[in-house]
Amino acid sequence: MKDFCVSTDFPGGNAVVLKTEGNTVYLDSDLRDTVGDWFYWAICVTGAEGKTITFDFGGKMRIGYYGPAVSYDLTHWKWLEKDSTFSKFTYTFSEKETKVYFAHNMIYSETMFREFAAQKQMPIQSLCKSRKGRDVPCVCFGKGHKSIVLTARHHACESTGNYVLEGVLDVLFDVPLNDIQVFCVPFVDYDGVTDGDQGKNRAPYDHNRDYTENKQAIYPETAKIREYIDTHSVFMAFDFHSPWHVGAENDLVCIIQKSIQKQNRYIKFGNLLDQNLTDDVLQHHQSDDIPPNGGTDNWNKVDTPTFAVYALRKPENELAFTLETCYFGHPDNPFTQERARGMGRCFAKAILEYIHTKS
Ligand SMILES: [Zn+2]
Repeated sequence: MKDFCVSTDFPGGNAVVLKTEGNTVYLDSDLRDTVGDWFYWAICVTGAEGKTITFDFGGKMRIGYYGPAVSYDLTHWKWLEKDSTFSKFTYTFSEKETKVYFAHNMIYSETMFREFAAQKQMPIQSLCKSRKGRDVPCVCFGKGHKSIVLTARHHACESTGNYVLEGVLDVLFDVPLNDIQVFCVPFVDYDGVTDGDQGKNRAPYDHNRDYTENKQAIYPETAKIREYIDTHSVFMAFDFHSPWHVGAENDLVCIIQKSIQKQNRYIKFGNLLDQNLTDDVLQHHQSDDIPPNGGTDNWNKVDTPTFAVYALRKPENELAFTLETCYFGHPDNPFTQERARGMGRCFAKAILEYIHTKS
């Protein structure tokens, strides 16, 4: 009898299959070079038509509030929403389900970005070669003396930020930007995104810790981003992330404020964002934003070298921050692909209004 197959052989694939006993698969996240624990995993199951299979992570927290994300094409994702705990889920494959993807979160793939860019007729350029020799995509549009820099996936597994980033680009690409160039790197840890790494807390340090002044970058992508910031007047810089797995601020959308001196600007932007949010998008509340040196156990240190801190240190920089976008959200504010893209479109409108108030 043909048996089912659990594979990670696709962009973003990640898991260690420990053993299979009957219709139970014991598996775990593949940490690779991540120091300490992390939770990302993504698998493809084939040949399981008509079977009921349990996927068991051995008691580890590897699944969110709504079960795993499920997809047939790696592009459209829904939550399983049943038969699931934080460490185990069970799925009954219909006779038609020849190939089903399951993941910790709703993956945003390079193919999705390329399809979005093609639809917008937004040219994709090459930023550089990655360590593994791959072309790293970037986009650049608009002309002017000032720049807005947009990045995502400094931490490879953090897909939620890409949906918000896509929404931001969707609006900014269509409006006339007065004297402003937009520079965007949607997958900073490009090898990690392709290979399905956690990326977070990568040894010796991850891409978002590769921003120490007067110390050469160790990753080709961050070297190029630093070079761009060093040679352009970066007026605004936004870096789109996902937080930790679940709980407290991890279930929200938060601006991570990185400058005590510029805190009034963060509050102004956060309020503009809230005013622009429509009911059908992922919600944000300015009061949830993380102040400098705030967050659970005061994790938001302002002196940690990050992309945002690197941009902020330039006198011409008006605003730079990380936006953390929850993996799952709350029942009254759940993460879905469209709600996150919609949130990004509202975020772009807040950028435009902020610029308008400055000119
Ligand atoms: Zn991150």
